[in-house]
Amino acid sequence: MKAEAVLSSTQTTSTASEVRQNVYRLTETELCEQLLALGQPKFRAKQVSDWVYKKGVTQFSEMSNLPQSLRDLLSQKYCFGHLELAVSQVSKDGTEKRLYRLPDGQMIESVLMPYQDGRRTVCISSQAGCAMNCSFCATGQMGFARHLTAEEIFEQAQNFSKELQQRGERLTNCVFMGMGEPFHNYDHLLNAIKMINERLGIGARKMTVSTVGLVPKIRRFAEEGIQVKLAISLHSTSDEHRNKIMPVNKKYPIQELISACHDFVNATKRRITFEWALIQGQNDSEAEALRLAKLLKGLLCHVNVIPLNPTQGYEGAPSDPQRVNHFVQTLEKNGIPATVRMRRGIDIDAGCGQLKSEVERKQAQQAEKLVQVSG
Ligand code: SAH
Repeated sequence: MKAEAVLSSTQTTSTASEVRQNVYRLTETELCEQLLALGQPKFRAKQVSDWVYKKGVTQFSEMSNLPQSLRDLLSQKYCFGHLELAVSQVSKDGTEKRLYRLPDGQMIESVLMPYQDGRRTVCISSQAGCAMNCSFCATGQMGFARHLTAEEIFEQAQNFSKELQQRGERLTNCVFMGMGEPFHNYDHLLNAIKMINERLGIGARKMTVSTVGLVPKIRRFAEEGIQVKLAISLHSTSDEHRNKIMPVNKKYPIQELISACHDFVNATKRRITFEWALIQGQNDSEAEALRLAKLLKGLLCHVNVIPLNPTQGYEGAPSDPQRVNHFVQTLEKNGIPATVRMRRGIDIDAGCGQLKSEVERKQAQQAEKLVQVSG
């Protein structure tokens, strides 16, 4: 059931936010310097920066200890981000999925997942589209549009964080598993991680970056000295099959990838998560589970198994629950910890890139109807 769906106009954002400076783009020092340059005393600059960087306000009207004239001046000069909400859907399992429109018309998705144990996890996008071309992935099927800036990545988390705060709750975790390949946008990703950590108070250990397996970036990430968790989308133990479903494998084949994973664990002492989308008849046999157990033997890791989310551009089907359970049990029996992940928000196209595809499909249908009516 699609409990709530808001479809706004298809126009791009007003120019107002383009002429104003995005405060999310500024560091605390930069903002303070600008305020001093505007003739504000030091204590005022400190008050404003506390509101922005410590209290996480998203409007100048919330800065209750500033004179009205200063709040007005600041709202003329600055804005808080520029993501425009295009669609919002809430699933019956509580998952909330959003489609945002960026000033240049690009669309990106972010999802909030509330869990019974109190965790509130946001899943955010790092790019508009994706260049990795994984055949089963709705975002991969769209192709690449552009990298997101650090502040565009940050703003997705900030928005949910703020709303949870208003409800007396708190954002606890952040996963980079939305649209795009985070390691393909490495520098902006790292800045965004820093902003989320410092401004939203989410510890590095509560963040997970998921990658298709860009080996040089895995090695670089190991050297960063941060505690952020790493997830690898593996999905196959055979180069021949992985080449087909994840073309990046032609550049970084499985052995090279696993070798980088060993080095990562040795350098960081952190456990790696492997993601495995079970596709009926392709990578869900007992033999494949045994090959996977052998491949991962001796590596500090965990496997997250999820039945494939069917997408428009891919013929594969999800494995049935019996096969899913047998696959997991086989891994467990052979010494590899594994968990079946629930497909959350399945009723609201919450898989990576699926909401955008669905909205575009509906818009195309509407446009077709209009042509038919007018013709
Ligand atoms: N580019 C990164 C992060 C984005 S996707 C990566 O690939 O890791 C997050 C996860 O969802 C990845 O493991 C990806 O392989 C998986 N995924 C994508 N499409 C899927 C689908 N249709 N069904 C199940 N999992 C999917």
